[in-house]
Amino acid sequence: MPYKRLFDSHCHLNDPVFKKEMKDVLSRAKAEGVIGAIVPGYDLDSSKRAVELARLHKSLYAAVGIAPHSADEFGPDDLAIISQLAESPDVVALGETGLEYHHGPDKKRQQELFRAHIRLAEALELPLIIHSRDADDDLWSIIETEGLSRGVLHCFTGGSELMERAVGHGLFVSISGIVTFKNAVDVQRAAKDVPIENLLIETDAPYLSPIPHRGGRNEPSYLVHTLEKVAQLRGIAPDELAEKLRSNTNRLFFALYENENAD
Ligand SMILES: [Zn+2]
Repeated sequence: MPYKRLFDSHCHLNDPVFKKEMKDVLSRAKAEGVIGAIVPGYDLDSSKRAVELARLHKSLYAAVGIAPHSADEFGPDDLAIISQLAESPDVVALGETGLEYHHGPDKKRQQELFRAHIRLAEALELPLIIHSRDADDDLWSIIETEGLSRGVLHCFTGGSELMERAVGHGLFVSISGIVTFKNAVDVQRAAKDVPIENLLIETDAPYLSPIPHRGGRNEPSYLVHTLEKVAQLRGIAPDELAEKLRSNTNRLFFALYENENAD
């Protein structure tokens, strides 16, 4: 029996690698109980494609935004385009955006990009999908000074201090397949310690395949491995966790669409 009504809070089905087999990927996801997913953009093209996919497929929703990796190419007109794309009824969040200090471009540029996204998210009353790597302190000082009301730290790999700050601020923490890796002690600790009301899970496909698919191309149907691992770490049944995650997903992304997405 597949799990009931799982939701992949972050997968890049807008990556060209999925172009030719979208139908198969979606039917495999459905067979595993993954009935919905958010497809975040990471630049203008991928944001447009996310909106297009969400328009074509009932189970998919879009987020639009520019990732820190592309901060160098980001110009003032681009945010206007993102804002325009966000008007589509299939867009439920802005992102992904954030700070990438591990191998990202100029930090100042990244910070400008991140601030601009927070302001736009607040203006549009959309939650923000945040990428952060090796940037905990700067990330938090920007979130605090700009004042972000709704969002998720996606593919969480930060420390416990960042987790506590995020939770204290009402943000969500999303756990990826990294949690299944043997040495990912910090991510496992976060998955176990984060209050269940603030927890989401994701594949971040096509990257970061969970065990037993590690090293291969990831896809939403593999979300079950992350669900099972997190449930095991927390000592609860996967079904019970799935139900909780479903309501978290609704709270963060679909609060404005409650009637359309009622159970
Ligand atoms: Zn991503």
